[in-house]
Amino acid sequence: MTEAATEARALDRGDALAPLRDRFQLPLAPDGEPAIYLCGNSLGPMPLAAPARVQEVLEHWATLAVRGHHGGPDPWMHFHERFAAPLGRLVGAAPGEVVAMNTLTVNLHLMLVSFYRPTATRHRILIERSSFPSDRYAVVSQLRFHGHAPQQSLIEVSPRPGEELLRTDDLIAAIEREGEALALVLLPGVQYLTGQVLDVPAITRVARRHGALVGWDLAHAIGNVPVELHDACADFAVWCHYKYLCGGPGATAGAFVHERHGHGTTLPRFAGWWGHDAATRFAMGPDFVPMAGAEGWQLSNPPVLALAPLIAALEAFDTAGMAALRAKSLALTAFARRLIEERLAGRITIVTPAADGDRGCQLSLRVVGGASRGRHAFASLSARGVIGDWREPDVIRLAPAPLYNRFAEVERAIAVLETALPPS
Ligand SMILES: *Cc1c(COP(=O)(O)O)cnc(C)c1O
Repeated sequence: MTEAATEARALDRGDALAPLRDRFQLPLAPDGEPAIYLCGNSLGPMPLAAPARVQEVLEHWATLAVRGHHGGPDPWMHFHERFAAPLGRLVGAAPGEVVAMNTLTVNLHLMLVSFYRPTATRHRILIERSSFPSDRYAVVSQLRFHGHAPQQSLIEVSPRPGEELLRTDDLIAAIEREGEALALVLLPGVQYLTGQVLDVPAITRVARRHGALVGWDLAHAIGNVPVELHDACADFAVWCHYKYLCGGPGATAGAFVHERHGHGTTLPRFAGWWGHDAATRFAMGPDFVPMAGAEGWQLSNPPVLALAPLIAALEAFDTAGMAALRAKSLALTAFARRLIEERLAGRITIVTPAADGDRGCQLSLRVVGGASRGRHAFASLSARGVIGDWREPDVIRLAPAPLYNRFAEVERAIAVLETALPPS
């Protein structure tokens, strides 16, 4: 066994979170052995307790039918309510600020309806140039919906020429430059391609000082890095639950609305009956009276089957606690980075920032020598049972997740890369 493999084993033996791995079903590699699953940034693996949670719902449906809404051990009327507290712990929300509903892009549109309220002079939205496409499509379509041309109203901040990462200073300078023309800032908590963590408190503070509203897309941040939305005074946030959260494919997503907007607000919104005051919802009156807090943005009754697996996933997060998960995550990525630097120097560059505060679970790697060499290395990883993902044009993303990954898996993944990329 190599020195690194021995070291990895010792790290695994000292890992207090190691038993949590047994709560997840990991896919198999082509040889029938468990795969090395480093793709939880894209779709988290299934919690073993998830099927039972789904089965419970099916049983209540089978035995109670319509009475399941109000009766039985777990009435569907209230099914969504249990998620607010555990999700709130993950994003740093106060009570009432979080709701599980819809899917990410739907929630983004609902939030933009309320929080993008352009005027003749203040109509610009600031995003980053490499935004996840769905976010950009949503923003551009909202601009057009309000009669604003993206050419004038969409501000996209890029890394500097020759650089790959956004600089907080550049984002802040762009916000200051736009000043009173800026209606909204929408940025990712963690950039999906590079794995870079953005400075939520600093950027939010500056944008608010200039009178802009601030929304965060936490798709790659929730369950990955600690976030404190309430204390940062973010106006809103959205995220999905199928990445680090392990809520299952297409899982019901989440949204945060800061409490200063939630109570007796005059914000415009697209309304539905589930956002109506729960006390009088079934009076079936004609006039919409929103619930206080984030729940007031709900449209429909909760998609109970799509929410059920998330119960199992959140139990794992609550057992571990975000602080312990973050500590292990930093150790996993630091170990990976060190092995890459020691064994693959000159063959792989790491796009993700090195500083602890600037990265989460994900390491974005670029193979030196071009995209075809990169594709070859990625194919070798897949053939040897290391599941990561490839993002065009030339990035391999590997994301060791502290809930279920081992140091030994990180070591083996790097060893596969080393074999696939012999020194030239
Ligand atoms: C994964 C991801 C999405 C996906 O959106 P859905 O509406 O859940 O399909 C959107 N935005 C970002 C930044 C993402 O990482």
